[in-house]
Amino acid sequence: EAERVSKEERQAWIEKDRQYVWHHMLPYAASQNPLIITKGDGAWVIDLEGNRYLDAMSGLWCVNLGYSNRELAQAAYEQLLQIPYYPMTQSHLPAIQLSEKLNEWLEGDYRIFFSNSGSEANETAFKIVRQYHAQNGEPTRWKFISRYRAYHGNSLGALAATGQAVRKQHYEPLAPGFVHVPPPYCYRCPFGKSRDTCEIECASIFEQVIQWEGPDTVAGVIMEPAITGGGVIVPPPEYMQQVREICDRYGVLLIADEVICGFGRSGKSFGHQNFAVKPDVVTMAKGITSAYLPLSATAVRADLFNAFKDEHAYAHFRHVNTFGGNATACALSLRTLELMEEMELVARCEELGQRMQERMMSLVDHPLVGDLRFFGLIAGVELVSDKETKTPASPEIVGRILAACKSRGVLIGKNSDTVPGQNNVLTLAPPLIITDEELDLIVRVLQEALQEVHFI
Ligand code: PMP
Repeated sequence: EAERVSKEERQAWIEKDRQYVWHHMLPYAASQNPLIITKGDGAWVIDLEGNRYLDAMSGLWCVNLGYSNRELAQAAYEQLLQIPYYPMTQSHLPAIQLSEKLNEWLEGDYRIFFSNSGSEANETAFKIVRQYHAQNGEPTRWKFISRYRAYHGNSLGALAATGQAVRKQHYEPLAPGFVHVPPPYCYRCPFGKSRDTCEIECASIFEQVIQWEGPDTVAGVIMEPAITGGGVIVPPPEYMQQVREICDRYGVLLIADEVICGFGRSGKSFGHQNFAVKPDVVTMAKGITSAYLPLSATAVRADLFNAFKDEHAYAHFRHVNTFGGNATACALSLRTLELMEEMELVARCEELGQRMQERMMSLVDHPLVGDLRFFGLIAGVELVSDKETKTPASPEIVGRILAACKSRGVLIGKNSDTVPGQNNVLTLAPPLIITDEELDLIVRVLQEALQEVHFI
């Protein structure tokens, strides 16, 4: 049973929150009246007063198994009693078992380096890729290419890879050596093309940029299989394959950022598997533990790891993080993946994604809906004030729709800050354990919210 407190008691907690807690991301005013969540129940969260909300964003795209899975709690508890932690300069059984399991899911031969967050997994990837090239006789390869609109993390390297101007304001200078290209954004094609005649210029631009930068200076490309937080931007099916070919042609390594798209979310084990591409490096976090504990991983093609075996004194990867590969987090992660296999959740996610897409097609004619985009169990609803001119809907309209959903007990999201005036994509990424009825409820509530806001 969730704790229920009176309005006065809640207010007292809010006052303390205002006094002590620094919230992530939100402008000051928007952070003044947070939900105070005390309990979870499957896809639902319950606040201090006992109000229930259906979490259509799985927290921050991560609580894939829902909030109240006792088997995950049990796996963590048992590991805590066994050995809670030991540094990854040595090893422990949960790390070994999880690394083997991740290789099964990746359908490849990868060495796994554990960290704690998606940002750290990406930082780790950048350092490994730079050092690999140096040890492979190409020390001038140090640049990375990523896409505008994509998010890769909050640290100074991962933020440099991020293609969202607003996120960088006040924090520059960031790490040097990051170059951006336009995203595969068909609804607003950066090249002014249309899909039937475009020849996927958003992919061939990588070749141009590699040539312009000087191929012997480019170390890697980092991309999410579909841009998620940056507005659910799903590429044409051939796109990632074409980028892979360009990388191969120029000796550039391909890093797949699977922090959101991984672990079934896309309808495959990993997002890149939708495009029959093998990345050189795969970074993952969030769903790896269903967010019950912090853990992330950087998976590196085993033959690249060979470059780090050299007997030279500094050939090894001189990188450590205290908590990375925490034994309890690894044990919990392993149980997460086993449960997903037992429940056949990856296939279920594909089915749910199709259902969501079918149901959401009913929104397509709504005057505020400019574009609908889907990737597995992720949806993006790009809102416009005018369908003809595609003028982005104002932040006020977007905010009113989010509030209208919340007042009906459904929490949905919107894309992260990209450039001012373009935070107009509603996002949905419900837990993979959601029922058909719950999924239909989300779509119904979204429809009502759009109606309410449009006819004010
Ligand atoms: N990459 C992607 C694609 C992400 O969505 C995120 C987080 N939203 C990150 C990296 C960074 O992960 P973290 O917040 O765990 O550092």
